[in-house]
Amino acid sequence: MRTIPNYINGEFIESKASEFTEVINPFNEEILAKTPHSTDSEISNAIKVANEAFSTWSKTPVIDRVQPLFKLKGLLEDNAKEICEILTREHGKTYKESWGDLLRGIQMVEVATGMPSLMQGEALQDVARGIDSYAYRKPLGVFAGINPFNFPAMVPMWFWPFAVASGNCFIVKPSERVSMTQEAIFKLIDQCGFPPGVIQMVNGSKDVVNHLLESEDIKGISFVGSTPVAKYIYEKGCAHKKRVQALGGAKNFLVMTPDAQIEKSVQAMVDSCLGCAGERCLAGAVLVGIGDGYDKMKDEVLRAVKNIKVGDGLNPETTMGPVISMEAKARILQDIEQAKSEGAECIYAGESQETLDKGYFVAPHVFENVKPGSLLATKEIFGPVISLMKVDTLGEAIKLINSSDFANTCSIFTTNGMAAREFSQNVHPSMVGVNLGVPAPMAFFSFGGSKDSFYGDVKVHGKSSVEFFTEKLTVMQRWFNEDKNENLNPHWDND
Ligand code: NAD
Repeated sequence: MRTIPNYINGEFIESKASEFTEVINPFNEEILAKTPHSTDSEISNAIKVANEAFSTWSKTPVIDRVQPLFKLKGLLEDNAKEICEILTREHGKTYKESWGDLLRGIQMVEVATGMPSLMQGEALQDVARGIDSYAYRKPLGVFAGINPFNFPAMVPMWFWPFAVASGNCFIVKPSERVSMTQEAIFKLIDQCGFPPGVIQMVNGSKDVVNHLLESEDIKGISFVGSTPVAKYIYEKGCAHKKRVQALGGAKNFLVMTPDAQIEKSVQAMVDSCLGCAGERCLAGAVLVGIGDGYDKMKDEVLRAVKNIKVGDGLNPETTMGPVISMEAKARILQDIEQAKSEGAECIYAGESQETLDKGYFVAPHVFENVKPGSLLATKEIFGPVISLMKVDTLGEAIKLINSSDFANTCSIFTTNGMAAREFSQNVHPSMVGVNLGVPAPMAFFSFGGSKDSFYGDVKVHGKSSVEFFTEKLTVMQRWFNEDKNENLNPHWDND
């Protein structure tokens, strides 16, 4: 069985690991490769090489630092078909969804090429008489990115293009369950002309993560994954004096007012819940109908879910692939049983996959009579399960959303601008949609939730990324006028 290599010091190197995680095609359970749990000396070497590269890279003109990213954008586009096929095989999502995954990553590369403008500082003349002040943004050193399984192409690119363009060096740790997509992308990165050590990939699991967290030579960590791990990473990273941004799990509510455009709204809601088999941090989970709108919403949801075609993500007819693993499938089915035992009523269970004798398929499920505080109203299921809830007023819907410990995203579907305004200004999640099922901010807007969906101070993407990956150096300067021998700032010297 082929082992995924690391990419250290500008070379693909086979790990000497003794432990591995299998990369399994969730459609047919074929073992595709093994991800090594890299050894301590391999990780230490990558960190050392990155710190050596930093001394030169951080002083390389920014205009030169972004040139490899221009090249990478072209290569990613030229090789998109191959990358998306690999992604679908190792993850299970449909080929179209893989395209979305990659495209969003390419957009990060595009935005990071604007670093000469993005990282400009500030200047002010005559802050006191004869004194000028200016502030630079400086890179900090070596950062690492710890990634989840659900966006094998996009999530690693949320971070490293910004980090590297702003003069840092970066180590990517892909999810051990889907490491093939990053291998394919690193084959392209290898052709772009980055000096060795600037961008590296070290494979592994939690031991690798702990090594990165504990190393004094790593300045910061960008993490995306489940909430318990995000909290752990944040606490441990901060204890080791690092900058940390840790994006966690979610429970997203989509609200429909009675005046909403019903068909389009519900189609967007169902796509949000079932896209990528529900394995998205921005996936809708609870659909909340207000007043009379509830029954219309429910009927339309039942109509829309019947069109879902579960199967092989590489088959163009398929609209929903399998979930990631046997464990994920078992966990989701257990949640479904617990929901029933709590009194939620299953009003739709899609066709079981009797025709497919292998694969980790979970049919779409729709529940109603979901009580506030119950499993379906609170827990991140991360599978194709839709919960319907009814409230009487918009205020009640907002209260329901704000009762959740998670606060990643939420949406309102309405034709009433005042309702949309009231909603977006009062909900806790920090990414809000109006008539959008997946309000994913673009690469140039700040991304990241709040409460237990995000630990840290600085969000990700665009200017927020520049903020995270740089520190400000402020210079105050004056020049003495020797000829006149006058002291321009007597008060200043007395401070
Ligand atoms: P996960 O937390 O299991 O794993 C994420 C990463 O952490 C992996 O690289 C893994 O190797 C590492 N890891 C796992 N356990 C660890 C431990 N005990 N110590 C140190 N490192 C550990 O998450 P996942 O199942 O791969 O991804 C799904 C989760 O990610 C969902 O909860 C989803 O909501 C979340 N997610 C959030 C966002 C967001 O933007 N907020 C985006 C994508 C995914």
